[in-house]
Amino acid sequence: MLEKLKISVFKANLDLVSNGLVIQTWGNASGRDLKSGLIVIKPSGLAYESMKPGDMVVVDPEGKIVEGRFKPSTDTPTHLLLYKTYRTLGGVVHTHSSYATSWAQAGKGIPPLGTTHSDYYYGEVPCTRLLTEDEIENDYEINTGKIIVETLGATDPLMLTSVLVNCHGPFCWGTSAENAACNAVALEEIARMAFYTVLLGKSEPINKSLLDKHFKRKHGNNAYYGQDNSK
Ligand SMILES: [Zn+2]
Repeated sequence: MLEKLKISVFKANLDLVSNGLVIQTWGNASGRDLKSGLIVIKPSGLAYESMKPGDMVVVDPEGKIVEGRFKPSTDTPTHLLLYKTYRTLGGVVHTHSSYATSWAQAGKGIPPLGTTHSDYYYGEVPCTRLLTEDEIENDYEINTGKIIVETLGATDPLMLTSVLVNCHGPFCWGTSAENAACNAVALEEIARMAFYTVLLGKSEPINKSLLDKHFKRKHGNNAYYGQDNSK
């Protein structure tokens, strides 16, 4: 079942490795079949080198295994909480990529310092608050999803596709597993650029008109970047 989606999720997981975002078994990508609502996710702790599309695990929105011989990623409850909250999401990715995670470990959002950032994000990539002792002890993975939702607030998740979880790392999403992986790759590069820009002594945000120009030409109703596929 969902063979196409399994291939897409498998590819997204490998994209994270080939782009240097994931070493060992640190990351995970999932995708949702918008028709059935079922989620396909990477198995827990399986080595990427030997992983095959058929190893991906199919779970229902509550996390019950529908198909698969492996246990799903331990972060599955976080993915499910995000899917449950945001109906438009088709893919979720989590990594411990070095630069984005460094900002997360510092408890700092990534400031919008240039146009590369503004092409993807309309302002800061926010960092969550720390989880409380109780939130860590009980339902840790679900609570991780909840603080991401809390941090996004009323923002449309497809207009802000990444959040840094404090002391942990980035969660990214998108319209598909591969799109979410693409966003995670962009986030890591933006985090790297911001790190060096701050190191060079500049931390004030890009001016509003440049931010507006770069974000709005790629996102929203008046976007004009790329090819017009409507014709
Ligand atoms: Zn993690």
